[in-house]
Amino acid sequence: SPAPIVAPDGSKPGLLSRLTGRQDAPRRVLDDAFVEELEDLLVQADLGVDTALKVTANIAAGRFGRRVTTAEIKEALAAEIARIMEPVARPLPLYAKKPQVVLVVGVNGAGKTTTIGKLASQFRAAGKSVIIAAGDTFRAAAVEQLQVWGQRAGVPVMTAPEGSDPASLAFDALTRAQAEGADLLMIDTAGRLQNRADLMEELAKIVRVLRKKDPSAPHNTLLVLDATTGQNALTQVEVFRQMANVSGLIMTKLDGTARGGVLVALADRFGLPIHAIGVGEQIEDLDAFDPQDFAAALTG
Ligand code: GDP
Repeated sequence: SPAPIVAPDGSKPGLLSRLTGRQDAPRRVLDDAFVEELEDLLVQADLGVDTALKVTANIAAGRFGRRVTTAEIKEALAAEIARIMEPVARPLPLYAKKPQVVLVVGVNGAGKTTTIGKLASQFRAAGKSVIIAAGDTFRAAAVEQLQVWGQRAGVPVMTAPEGSDPASLAFDALTRAQAEGADLLMIDTAGRLQNRADLMEELAKIVRVLRKKDPSAPHNTLLVLDATTGQNALTQVEVFRQMANVSGLIMTKLDGTARGGVLVALADRFGLPIHAIGVGEQIEDLDAFDPQDFAAALTG
């Protein structure tokens, strides 16, 4: 599978390229200055201070005061990152119970609509029947976009009049999904963070109403995060965890950033599963998250 992290100009970031570029000698003593330089590089690559310090300390342990090559450091770094990422690389769990209800949350622009379309297409290709509910009833443009994605994926999209109650739409959608024996119901939601209390109440009501029809719903609550927002993604996880029972993450726009390091910070801090990564705007641009590929691409 392709390396997921490519900058907009097509180049790969290569976390250690700057370090390598500045090296005259092939070997260098791993001293305090080197440790600090590594920490700075990892912070710049969006691993966040805590994770950057931890990763660097692990790399330096057993090597401090020794002469090391950049290749050795690169390999150790890739191994550290893969070790942090392996436990969170998990595909979306599919339950035997039908319909599986997937609530999709995230701020506007994160890529919810696009990701729902991509997921719907993948589930259709796997022979699953899917229904989408356009639960962001306050944004007409979002509903239209979702309808376009539904057509592309060959999946029905249930909508409600602009400004109507998303919980009522969710209820109707689950009623239909149950009646039709659908495998999967994906529910889009609003992402107006500027109105946090409203949004929290809206999400809570959707969950309450779904549970009237199925006490185990929603089976997954996916938080969609835009990887280009860097450290802000950490705040978004915190905020959405207060509003919903987030069960897993999908990171979008990893094709458009050299800052994929925030995934390491997220995995290290929250340990939430990363179910998939968005690597472009087309319907096929959703990949499983591969920790080895990711670590190799990030370290360059
Ligand atoms: P929503 O407001 O959360 O529903 O976000 P959208 O799905 O409308 O996506 C916002 C923008 O991000 C759109 O222009 C999408 O084409 C773009 N987008 C979504 N996912 C990806 C991705 O993985 N890579 C790239 N390059 N763009 C993406």
